Amino acid sequence: MKVGILGGGQLAQMLAQAGDSLDMDFAFVAPEKDACAAPFGQHFMYPYLDPKAEQKLADWSDVVTYEFESIPVPLVQALEQKVSVHPSSEALILASDRLNEKTMFNQEGIETAKFATVDSLDDLVAAVKQVGLPAILKTRRDGYDGKGQVVLRDESELAVAWESLSPVACILESMVNFEREVSIVASRNVSGDIAFYPLAENYHREGILRLSLSLQNDPKQQEAEGIIRKVMEKVEYVGTMAVELFDLGDKFAANELSPRVHNSGHWSMDGAEASQFKNHLLAIAGMPLGDTSIKNATAMINLIGDIPDKGIVEQIPGAVLYDYGKEPRAGRKVGHINLVANGDNDKNFLDNACKLLELVGQGELIDSVNKSSFYK
Ligand code: AMP
Repeated sequence: MKVGILGGGQLAQMLAQAGDSLDMDFAFVAPEKDACAAPFGQHFMYPYLDPKAEQKLADWSDVVTYEFESIPVPLVQALEQKVSVHPSSEALILASDRLNEKTMFNQEGIETAKFATVDSLDDLVAAVKQVGLPAILKTRRDGYDGKGQVVLRDESELAVAWESLSPVACILESMVNFEREVSIVASRNVSGDIAFYPLAENYHREGILRLSLSLQNDPKQQEAEGIIRKVMEKVEYVGTMAVELFDLGDKFAANELSPRVHNSGHWSMDGAEASQFKNHLLAIAGMPLGDTSIKNATAMINLIGDIPDKGIVEQIPGAVLYDYGKEPRAGRKVGHINLVANGDNDKNFLDNACKLLELVGQGELIDSVNKSSFYK
């Protein structure tokens, strides 16, 4: 089967690697010359809005998917007229705008932070009255890894904050005082079957995901499954999706949904029977889904900026390093490490995770690991 992907980054790369065992070929539309997925298939190097991008991909592909939600919606809608596209443009419209996303969550009875739309400084002043402080001003579209976000603690900061993001449409969200951040990743296929991955507990710094711990038998697994099921069924979603959740203790508040494979699901490449990438491909190809159960507890550590010495990493038992082949750059995700526990009684697992965090310059997370749900 020929799978066309909009985007040529690491998510597209890992999809193509997962497709190897499924007898699938890949093509990527990506304007960047050095797209890291390009060595794994054909590279159609066009801007997304160039009509040739649409034409080439539609002609080549049996099915089209995408690896990020900033893809222009009109391109996905045009492709849908010519070829099978999963997830649909309806899912993309929901997920690519924080206002649509939060409105949908609330309509489905899913709690979120309080929010208000902001299109001017006057709106921001009114929104602060409605939502309260502290709060976060976020661009509605195109924000990722903490970009396009400003934390507001005092009314004196409003004008500077608006100036830094305007003139784009924004949303103001109340600052949520959460106990932990988790995400639920699931895949839904064309027949409507859903396979849920175990929850991942996530740790961010500066808005960037640093560490995910896969959680076996988390007491809130079913509640999280109920949330993602509602969203998937609402839009008859096909593919892998993630919903990021703030755990408030007595309930969840949804933060955002990703209509694609997700960084907090990378642990599944080594920790689950079928990875999120494989299940995305099976789902969009109209095939039965693979087994999402955990083989062994897994920690995923993002490599931000540069790649550590592979020899040193792999001296730690259970550690597997993924290098996306991207140019090192401050703040850029260039790879990740999956650390897989050796069975259920691996007493060294969390110590090894801490050693790796130290090695990759994320030592400040060690305290969080020691307090994580792993110990409960
Ligand atoms: P986002 O880009 O919305 O996923 O935000 C990135 C990270 O910023 C989240 O994973 C949280 O750690 C933090 N964050 C975002 N929105 C809020 C919020 N309303 N309250 C508290 N923390 C937030």
